[in-house]
Amino acid sequence: MFKRQLRKYKRNIYINSLDNTWIKRTMKDMRYTFAQFKAEYPDDNACLEAVFQNRYGKLNYCPKCGADTKWYRVKNRKAYACIHCRHQLHPLADTIFRKSETSLWNWFYAIYLVSVAKNGISAKELERHLGVTYKTAWRMLNQIKKLMAEELELSGIVEADETYIGGRRSQSEMHDNKTPIVGIAEKRGLVKAKVLDGKASEARVMPFLKHNISPLSVLHTDKSRIYHNASKNQFKHR
Ligand SMILES: [Zn+2]
Repeated sequence: MFKRQLRKYKRNIYINSLDNTWIKRTMKDMRYTFAQFKAEYPDDNACLEAVFQNRYGKLNYCPKCGADTKWYRVKNRKAYACIHCRHQLHPLADTIFRKSETSLWNWFYAIYLVSVAKNGISAKELERHLGVTYKTAWRMLNQIKKLMAEELELSGIVEADETYIGGRRSQSEMHDNKTPIVGIAEKRGLVKAKVLDGKASEARVMPFLKHNISPLSVLHTDKSRIYHNASKNQFKHR
């Protein structure tokens, strides 16, 4: 009990000492308004340029002719070409925007709406905002959600721990009807948790860590056997 209180106290100090600019920046990010969104992404071209910059912005040579190059937008096509050999890059290939009948701006608008909705957004609301069919809205929403979940990879200093919640058994039988959970938390950042399909073990926990924490992150854990091989599994382990 005392240990728990001490931990709580330490955590409070930590929260109180958090850098003010970091808090302000986070608050600002949360208030990304529609006006800001519209200014940053006014039309399809701006959205395509954003995808291109994200994927190929740092590509300063041509994979086809090998020359140091620059890329120009191909007129009326969703492609960019090498100034020397006209080799084309298609920034939307292998993305959720590919071959979609919905405009790229509508996709960006949908992502904006999903991102700023505090309590999530329904396909019905998306249908109304975008002026697309319910079926299209539902499909878009699912793809966006899937993409967002996939990209949620933790990095830097990451803490991992497992616990058992719920149930009503005594300490000695605690695993019998309690639900095993593993959680990971990034320092000052993302948190992710998963229900395990059995008692917490290395075989059940490590795949979750490997899938959700970027390689070379520093993994902090307690001395449980579950994490003994963490350093053999791409992490720096403390
Ligand atoms: Zn070229």
